[in-house]
Amino acid sequence: MEHKLPELPWARDALAPAISRETIDYHYGKHHATYVAKLNELIAGTAFENADLEEIVRKSEKGSGIYNNACQHWNHTMYWQCLTPDGTGGPSGELKSAIERDFGSFDAFVEQFTQKATTLFGSGWTWLVDDGGKLGIANTGDGDTPMRDGANVLLTCDVWEHAYYIDYRNARPKYVEGFWRLVDWEFAAKRLRQPSAVAMAGA
Ligand code: MN
Repeated sequence: MEHKLPELPWARDALAPAISRETIDYHYGKHHATYVAKLNELIAGTAFENADLEEIVRKSEKGSGIYNNACQHWNHTMYWQCLTPDGTGGPSGELKSAIERDFGSFDAFVEQFTQKATTLFGSGWTWLVDDGGKLGIANTGDGDTPMRDGANVLLTCDVWEHAYYIDYRNARPKYVEGFWRLVDWEFAAKRLRQPSAVAMAGA
C-alpha cells in the first residue's frame, strides 16, 4: 500500500501570520512529504508493506526507520487537523468539562501545556492525551507518540524547530503563543468521542 501525503484542510497561507505560507511550504511540502516518501521506500518488501499507517505506528520496532517515518507521517497528519485558520477559541461541551475536571480550569491547562511545549528539550511533540478516561499532557521525543502506550491523543503541537524556525527563529514560546490562536477544538472534541477520527490519505 502506498502511503500518501494528505491534502491540507486549508490553503497554505491561511494560518498566517501565526504560521506563514513559507513555513507550510517547507514543513508540509518538504518535511512531511519526505517522511511519506521515506516510509514507502522502507516498507517495500517488509511485513509492513500492506499495513495501514496506525498499525505500523503501533507494531513496528521502536526507533527503527520504519517506526520513525510512520510516526512522523501520522503525527503531522494529526497536527494539520489540529489547526484551523479561524481558531475556535476554546473547547466546549464534553471536552471542556473533561479539561476542567482534570486540570482545574482551561487556563490552567493552557499554562501547563505551554510549559511542557516550551521546555521540551530537542525535537518532539506535546500532546493532550486521554489515558483511560483521564486527560493529561505528555511530551515525546523525535517521532514518538503516546498512542504507542495505548493513550488516545486529542491535540498535538509540533515543537521540532522546523515547525517555527522560519517564522520565529529560535523563539519557541512565540510559536506556541501563535499555536493557541489556531487550535481546532472541534477536532480535539471529535477525537475524544471517536479516537479514530483522523482523516488519512490513501489509507
Ligand atoms: Mn514537523
